[in-house]
Amino acid sequence: MLHIDGSEGEGGGQMVRNSCALSLVTGQPFRISNIRARRSRPGLMRQHVTAVEAACAISNSTCEGLMVGSSELTFRPGSVVPGEYHFAVGTAGSTGLVLQTILMPLALASAPSRLVIEGGTHNMMAPPFDFIERCFLPIVNRMGPRIAANLVRHGFYPRGGGRIEVEIEPAPLAAIECVDRGPLLDRRLQVAFTGLPFDVAERMVNKARKALADWPEEAFSFRELPADQGPGVILLAEAAYANVTEIVSGFGRLGVPSERIAQQTCSRLSGYAAGNAFAGPFLQDQLILPFVLAGGGAFTLVKPSQHTLTAIDVAGQFTGITPRLQIKDNGPNLISVP
Ligand code: ATP
Repeated sequence: MLHIDGSEGEGGGQMVRNSCALSLVTGQPFRISNIRARRSRPGLMRQHVTAVEAACAISNSTCEGLMVGSSELTFRPGSVVPGEYHFAVGTAGSTGLVLQTILMPLALASAPSRLVIEGGTHNMMAPPFDFIERCFLPIVNRMGPRIAANLVRHGFYPRGGGRIEVEIEPAPLAAIECVDRGPLLDRRLQVAFTGLPFDVAERMVNKARKALADWPEEAFSFRELPADQGPGVILLAEAAYANVTEIVSGFGRLGVPSERIAQQTCSRLSGYAAGNAFAGPFLQDQLILPFVLAGGGAFTLVKPSQHTLTAIDVAGQFTGITPRLQIKDNGPNLISVP
């Protein structure tokens, strides 16, 4: 039984999700203690419980300590059974984080799967659907599997009620090199909103036009969603290169002016665009699992995040493969496997 100390490194829910995924792929049982010990509300939250339940449901795994507030979990993996699954987070908890937990085990399974996941689709501190679809999945697909994701309904905090559908055709993961972005092909910025005054979205776009003054007029757009999907607003700033797409998200929050959200989002995208690293601040930790499971490959990245360092450490404990991080003075940092 592998013991993971959940308070080490980044010490968040990602350690629980990655441990479940790695356990299912390697067959290694684990116990994780001190779950989210340094968070203001420690222990498992509803969305983490749903993610672990999903891992159990696709594999007949058994789990002790699986309840909201629990700070210790023991997970004994069964074997992954591909097929049709439906998970509902129950709150506005992130559908993307549930997907993060079960995607790799199903992408390496013996037959296709189809998933329906309900909950939040555009949550703070989680990959928005668009990020999963256009930033993360294209890279996993380049490694072998064929994964297609469809956003049926948006789900915003606190109402939730979103729905994503994911089709997975498994294949072994091939090692790939993701070192260069390739040429810039497209850039766009969209504000999707519902249940809020138009002014909230308009002010975001107006500020973004000023912050990204060299972008063409047609790069900016609005999208009003059906009223029953709100209230909510999300700003997505996107730069598509030949080999990678970066999406920076600005989440609408009560009390935070539209202009500030737009300004922050645009300067983050400009910061990424000014460099030449492949993986931005969020893609990097999400790539650790597929790269380790491929057993090879490399990618360049902006400044490594604590999530990335923790994902490297957890992956090393399960697989014995610890990706190597090289910090470079001239040029982007590099992560290579093994
Ligand atoms: P916590 O324990 O901190 O409450 P959590 O379980 O909600 O954590 P984290 O452990 O922080 O989540 O993991 C969040 C995941 O979501 C990471 O993989 C991170 O890369 C991803 N993520 C967060 N924000 C974004 C974003 N804006 N765009 C893309 N991915 C994101």
